[in-house]
This record gives sequence, C-alpha cells and structure tokens, in this order.
Amino acid sequence: MTDGLTHNMTALEAAGERALPAAEDVAKRFKVLPHPAPASDEAWAKAMEELDFGAAYSDHMARAVWTKGEGWHSKQIVPFGPLTLSPAAAVLHYGQEIFEGMKAYRHDDGSIWTFRPAYNAARFNASAKRMCMPQLEVEDFVGAIAALVKEDAKWVPTPFGSSLYLRPVMFASEAFLGVHAASEYTFLTIATPVGLYFKDGLSPVSIWVADDYHRAGPGGTGAAKTGGNYAGALLPQEKAAEAGFDQVCFLDARENQYLEELGGMNVFVVRSDGSVVTPALTGTILEGSTRSAIIRLLRDRGTPVFEERIRLADLADDIKRGEVTEMFACGTAAVVTPIGRLASTDFDLEIPGTAVTLSVYNQLVGIQNGEEPDPYNWLYRIA
Ligand SMILES: *Cc1c(COP(=O)(O)O)cnc(C)c1O
Repeated sequence: MTDGLTHNMTALEAAGERALPAAEDVAKRFKVLPHPAPASDEAWAKAMEELDFGAAYSDHMARAVWTKGEGWHSKQIVPFGPLTLSPAAAVLHYGQEIFEGMKAYRHDDGSIWTFRPAYNAARFNASAKRMCMPQLEVEDFVGAIAALVKEDAKWVPTPFGSSLYLRPVMFASEAFLGVHAASEYTFLTIATPVGLYFKDGLSPVSIWVADDYHRAGPGGTGAAKTGGNYAGALLPQEKAAEAGFDQVCFLDARENQYLEELGGMNVFVVRSDGSVVTPALTGTILEGSTRSAIIRLLRDRGTPVFEERIRLADLADDIKRGEVTEMFACGTAAVVTPIGRLASTDFDLEIPGTAVTLSVYNQLVGIQNGEEPDPYNWLYRIA
C-alpha cells in the first residue's frame, strides 16, 4: 500500500531526466537545406493568426534515413513538402510506424523552449522497440527538433498558451511486400503552429465509455505510440460522436471492467477526500508525459495520487454518491481538459467540478510558458 505521495520513477521518467547537450550542439547533426520558396509573409501571417492545429505547417521538416548495415544517415532539415514513396513501401501495407507529439513554446523574452524532450526521445525508442524498428540516438531525436525549430523559429507563436506543435514520426519506407521488419526507415519531424486547444477556455467534454471495442490488449501495442492504435479507435470514436459524445474512453480488454484511457489522452479522477486516482500502467496504457508531470505536481503539493485499477461500476457509484468530484483527461495537445459527463450502457452522469483540473492546467501551462517556476528542469532551451 502506498501513501500516494512517494514517487518511484518509471524507466521512462528516469530516461527523461537525462542531461542533454546544448541545443546548438545537437542541432549541428542536421544539415540545413533552406527552402528556396518559403511561405509568403501573407501565408505566414494568416497561419500565425489562425493557429489552427494542422492547418498550416512551417517551412521545413527534419529528415533522416536508416538503412540496414549503415544505420542512420542523411540527417537534414529540408523544405516541408510531399514525399516520394514506393507504393510497395512496407508502412502502407503493414503499418510499421511510430510517432511523438511535443511542443515548442516562446517565452516573454523571446526565447524558445521545449518540454522534457529526453522523455519523448526515450518513449520514441520504447515504441520503436515494440514495433521492431531501429533505435534513434537521443541526441539525434532532440537534434532534429532543435535544428527544425531554430530554422523555423518565426513559426513559434507568441500568445500565452500557443506553441509550435512538433510531430516526429518514423515509418518503414522499404519497398518490399514480404512480412518482416523493414530494412529501410524514414524519420521525419514536421511542425504546425497551434493556439490554445480549447479556445473558449476549459470547456468540459463528454465521454462515452465503450464496452464493445478496445484500443489495446495484453501483449499488444497499447503502450507504444503507433498509428494502428489510433486507426482502431476511429470507429468507436465515430459511433460515440454520432451519439453526441466528444470522446471515447476504453476499458481493459481482459475483463472489460477497468478504465484505461481515451484514444489519445490519459485520464484522472479527483475524489472528495482530496486524493487523485489514475489508471495504473498495466502495459496496455500509453505512458503520457503529461500524466507523469501531473502526478509529480500533485504529489509535490501534498495531494496523494494513486495509480490503480479503476472499476467502471465503482467509479459510476462514486460519482453518484458525490465521492468523485472531478475527472479530467490529459495529453500534450490539449494539456488538460475537464470531463463533465461520463456515460456508458448502464449510466449517464454529470461531473460538475473543475477546481483541481483548472489548478493543474494553470500550473502546467505556466511552467511550459515560463510564467511559473520549473523546479523539475522540465524545460529545455532551443533558442
Ligand atoms: C500521446 C498519447 C497520450 C498522451 O501522452 P503525452 O505524452 O501526455 O502527450 C495518451 N494516450 C495515448 C494513447 C497517446 O497516444
């Protein structure tokens, strides 16, 4: 039994604490081939005004290629643009692919920072291992981000809460239809400027708990950040949307009883006794950097956080009895979002509270944007 306050670091958290070389040093690993025709001032100004997730991309992207026998090579910053890919490329047939999601933040003094890049680098390699893909040196992963963000610094927006969203991705680019791990992989990082995810403040979302679909099973790929997990979550997501819900929450595949996570966000439950509970990392849940940061922030405030199995039926009872006062979801893109309604085949419940959710949101966004102290050294300076 734990007191909910002591913190034993996970392997990812420990890897994430690793000291990194300065950004200007790792950035040198990527040779810059400048865009001959970057976005016009008008196109750039429009993108920076709209700050719509994925609506516009910065001028460049990072790229590297891995070939069997040779390892990683051709590390470059190149113009953002379409790829040339054989129709036989293995990723198109067997889905050997992993990705990450990160952000670069501009602080008031103009400096640019990112959040726990060594954590994402370690998770990228953990995902790569599960998907039978090559490891990428942490310095290459962070170097790609540093070089890209330095080159496209003007795409990092200024308003509080906005950022340049970074999407590293690796996929099997070998043209071969045999079923085996590919002998060529392409690594890319692209960037899109984004504003506050929820423009009208923290508007609570409604969640449908699916009992007829699962996103991951024991021994499967649930702990890896791989596209197939997302593809499999789309149909239940659409069905939930048709029924009027914003998002789906998945249950464990073995017993179909325990809360796992949303398609792309981890979940937390706030109890009336002041403690907080989040599903334990059972191997089928993605270990979110935001999840880990929130657990740390809460424990250091003296809030006990328990990583447990959460039975859906018990959770519903506790909400009815007022013993659960808040729920929220978290991930890099939206940071923190309150869950205002939770429904499944057997119940449909309102969860009115947002106080803890809001305070966690404010502290985390404050750290990321340089307005709150960062005692954990989570920020890494890029420029
Ligand atoms: C990326 C992701 C999360 C959130 O992870 P962060 O590191 O906090 O962005 C949660 N669940 C799934 C399934 C994810 O893919």
